[in-house]
Amino acid sequence: MANEFSLINKYFKPLGEAIASPNVVMGIGDDCALLANKPGYQLAVSTDTMVAGVHFFADAHPIDVGYKALAVNLSDLAAMGAEPAWFTLCLTLPGRDENWIKGFVQGIEILAQQFAIPLVGGDTTKGPLSLSIQVAGWVPEDKGLTRSGAKVGDHLYVSGEIGWPYLGYQVSTSSLQLNDADQREGLERFLRPLPKLALGANLIDVASAALDISDGLTADLNHMLTASGIGAELDINALPLAAPLGAMSDDIQRQAINFGDEYQLLFAVPSDKQTQLTALQEQLSIKLYPIGTLVDGPGIVDSQGNPIAPSGYEHF
Ligand code: ADP
Ligand code: MG
Repeated sequence: MANEFSLINKYFKPLGEAIASPNVVMGIGDDCALLANKPGYQLAVSTDTMVAGVHFFADAHPIDVGYKALAVNLSDLAAMGAEPAWFTLCLTLPGRDENWIKGFVQGIEILAQQFAIPLVGGDTTKGPLSLSIQVAGWVPEDKGLTRSGAKVGDHLYVSGEIGWPYLGYQVSTSSLQLNDADQREGLERFLRPLPKLALGANLIDVASAALDISDGLTADLNHMLTASGIGAELDINALPLAAPLGAMSDDIQRQAINFGDEYQLLFAVPSDKQTQLTALQEQLSIKLYPIGTLVDGPGIVDSQGNPIAPSGYEHF
């Protein structure tokens, strides 16, 4: 791209300089960024790619695209219990549409500021619109929240209501009409998910396993079960479904539960950590929802012992 350097200096460099970090020795502008280690911690690193027409509508508002690109990556840090450290951004643009870039950077900046995470580098190329963000975060040594630590007898929780992103998606494609308040709530949860970083970091000494719900509740639960080598009994009636779904068919409820794009945390807590979990809810002023128990596996069953087949989003 002819003017890639002016784009970098005008739009991306400020996203690094706006957020001070003791670990960023040198950010955007050289061949590499220079980043300092944090003693006693390990780096949790994750990357997610978003392709126009696959992960977002090609005509989506650039602020929404930027916001969500960083949100889904921060959600992976949250699921690991990590504290944000820095991120990089690889951007492929079809042309120099400065209005689009400006909006996109604005969307990223909302979360970069909120969670004090600086942009330290990236790449800018020309081609079909797509973007990759790589995030890094700090976890106390050997304490990262993995998917594999859940044990039989642990209790399963989700961090919030399930199904709002499905409703928001249906509203945004004009396939569904809800009352104004529900419509707003659905769109907000679909377009502006808030990564659960404070919860994740505080679950480090409480949860035995955790992940974020991106593919769909049963698909992601199945990831935890496979990694932990156990099964789960899911209490379907205890699932905190988005209120408007209550009046909809079983089939639509199932679709909503398995839609994904939630970015709520799904985690397991041993019985002897329940008191700590209760205290945590008060400390963070949040409501956590118990949705089942971990049992001998494999797979997911309902309260009557009937198998529930995992289903969710898959690319291939
Ligand atoms: P090089 O040719 O050495 O790879 P580039 O010209 O690709 O360098 O990038 C110059 C500087 O700008 C580097 O520090 C790089 O990390 C940064 N950079 C390029 N594109 C982006 C972007 N989209 N976001 C953040 N930093 C970027
Ligand atoms: Mg480069």
